Amino acid sequence: MAVLGSTGSIGTQALDLVRANPDRFRVVALTAGGSNEELFDAQVAEFAPAFSGLGEDASTEAAGLECDVVLNGITGAVGLRPTLAALDAGTTLALANKESLIMGGPLVTARAKPGQIVPVDSEHSAVAQCLRGGTPQEVRRLVLTASGGPFRGRSREELGEVTLEQALQHPTWSMGPVITINSATLVNKGLEVIEAHLLFDLPFDRIEVVVHPTSVVHSMVEFTDGSTLVQASPPTMMIPIALGLAWPDRVPDAAPAVDWTRAETWEFFPLDDDAFPAVSLARRAGELGATAPAVYNAANEVCVDAFMAGRLPFVDIVPTVAAVVERHDVPLNEQLTIDDVLAADTWAREEAAHTIGETL
Ligand code: NAD
Ligand code: MG
Repeated sequence: MAVLGSTGSIGTQALDLVRANPDRFRVVALTAGGSNEELFDAQVAEFAPAFSGLGEDASTEAAGLECDVVLNGITGAVGLRPTLAALDAGTTLALANKESLIMGGPLVTARAKPGQIVPVDSEHSAVAQCLRGGTPQEVRRLVLTASGGPFRGRSREELGEVTLEQALQHPTWSMGPVITINSATLVNKGLEVIEAHLLFDLPFDRIEVVVHPTSVVHSMVEFTDGSTLVQASPPTMMIPIALGLAWPDRVPDAAPAVDWTRAETWEFFPLDDDAFPAVSLARRAGELGATAPAVYNAANEVCVDAFMAGRLPFVDIVPTVAAVVERHDVPLNEQLTIDDVLAADTWAREEAAHTIGETL
């Protein structure tokens, strides 16, 4: 396997899985972004991959190497070229980097053979597992669970004063900083709705979001007879990572199961769209299609950067993304290309930066 983004939350957990299963997995390539070179050097020394390198170009090269599976664990739009390289090489793509799928949209899915993309996002892994329980014709809708993040239960007004430190305290998951902020704004769930639409080819009105604070049920599939299958485990990425790397096989003892000898309560709540408009905005961007999801993602990446640098209040993240999405002229031509997507990404970054400058 090739592990892209090996020093991150997903990458290090994938390497834990390799350590625990040395007979099953072999690392042929490692890449990362360069912010933690000491860790990267230690990984290269330990796993002795045939290829290693830092940066986007190295990741794209690694993704095109001959191997069984490429795990894309890079954060952000910079994961697009590596995703395309893995798909073009015909290699199974274990996809944690949802941004590349969302921004490329049908351009990415069209380059994938059926089953070539295996989702590593826990919700989509859950859906893929539940979909084994019925035929595509039997599926009524997908129900994605959301923890609600650290600010669940707050009104829009009560979000005014939240700090970076508070936003980085996720109640159930330990993840990289960008996805943690995205979980606090619910932008992550918005991205995941678009991701589900692209992976499972269902219209947006058949993809629901429900708040489930303890993140034990990772998502569900409702079938046409009224039956719902759920996939559950204590919160862990080890199971989705293991399935991503070994699909369709399960890796024994990838993580502990729910302990039914102890009391266990599952709660579900409707999403407060008023306090957290990121999901409905993502639906709108998804319905617009073409370059709109890339704009949603890119504007958000700029806003998250600005929030982390103290230049943008938390409550202004989603309204800024919404303003940029509204100003975007979605191209109507049928022949959308990757260059159109990259141009929209660049435009959205400039537009978001400009908007933040204006609101300062
Ligand atoms: P992270 O910030 O912990 O790690 C990101 C990795 O990407 C690091 O290794 C970094 O060096 C690398 N990287 C950054 N820029 C790069 C570049 N230009 N070229 C090559 N590598 C680069 O992030 P994470 O939490 O591991 O998330 C990774 C991806 O997985 C994201 O798309 C995220 O949305 C998704 N995801 C993560 C989790 C989780 O539990 N962490 C769960 C679901 C989905
Ligand atoms: Mg997820």
